[in-house]
Amino acid sequence: MQAVTPNPPLPAQLVTRFAPSPTGYLHLGHAFAAWRAWRRARADGGRFLLRIENIDATRARPEYEAAILEDMRWLGLDWDGPVRRQQAHLADYALVLEDLRARELLYPCFCTRADIAREVAASGQAPHGPDGPVYPGTCATLSPRIAAARIEAGQAHCWRLRTARAAALVGPLDYEEEGQGRVTCDPGAHGDVVLARKDCPGSYHLCVCHDDALQGVTLVMRGEELRPATDIHRLIQSLMGWPQPVYAHHRLLTDERGQKLSKRDGALSLKTLREAGITPAEAFRRAGVDLAQL
Ligand code: GLU
Repeated sequence: MQAVTPNPPLPAQLVTRFAPSPTGYLHLGHAFAAWRAWRRARADGGRFLLRIENIDATRARPEYEAAILEDMRWLGLDWDGPVRRQQAHLADYALVLEDLRARELLYPCFCTRADIAREVAASGQAPHGPDGPVYPGTCATLSPRIAAARIEAGQAHCWRLRTARAAALVGPLDYEEEGQGRVTCDPGAHGDVVLARKDCPGSYHLCVCHDDALQGVTLVMRGEELRPATDIHRLIQSLMGWPQPVYAHHRLLTDERGQKLSKRDGALSLKTLREAGITPAEAFRRAGVDLAQL
């Protein structure tokens, strides 16, 4: 009798996404990220998702979100399935927090920015992480009784990850950077990062990992500035037993003075470009990007 050879498993379908925060008008750097991810998904017969990361209720605005959808149309980028808006899923993020809290991996932090700055200044040589000074751990040692009383009294607080404890639990971590191989993670360098903001049961780190897992994202394509965050994302994925995507961090576009484009510094927005009647190809060309060569 002839042995039956099972079919080799089909390669998983590529799923990638563009996940802007509607906290300002997008600039050409965002268009670059969106365009790369879209083109990759289309070239590979994969899926391209659009996710609006609007958990920051103080900065997210409907007009910015509307502009993102307009920008996508201007760029000629279509996406698969409905747009996911993070504000509509806060209860899901709260469940993840609950799980981590039950495992004693989170603690409430009552510090204001000023408290942290003062503490860091007083300590003389506070360690610096990828995002500036590492949280000095002021609230990490509060007794659970005192912390509970402060919460009960309505004191504003965020929730921080006990990063060292979490990292010890999961052991060494790395990730696949497309075209570069495995990259070793150092989550400890970030200190106790915020997993739930004061105003929301989630933070960028928590929600992005949750949604990438839920939406089956296999390839995270995003700008180089978010590369350090991947250390924390791998830690969260590992703690939660979520799959690990491959990463492809890309270079950042700069303006004519060589400065990184940034929403905050008022880089020329896509809205301004499209309202001026400039085509995406022309806008990219002016920034030294040839779409055909990407
Ligand atoms: N929402 C993030 C931002 O606009 C990007 C999230 C990501 O690609 O991981 O910077």
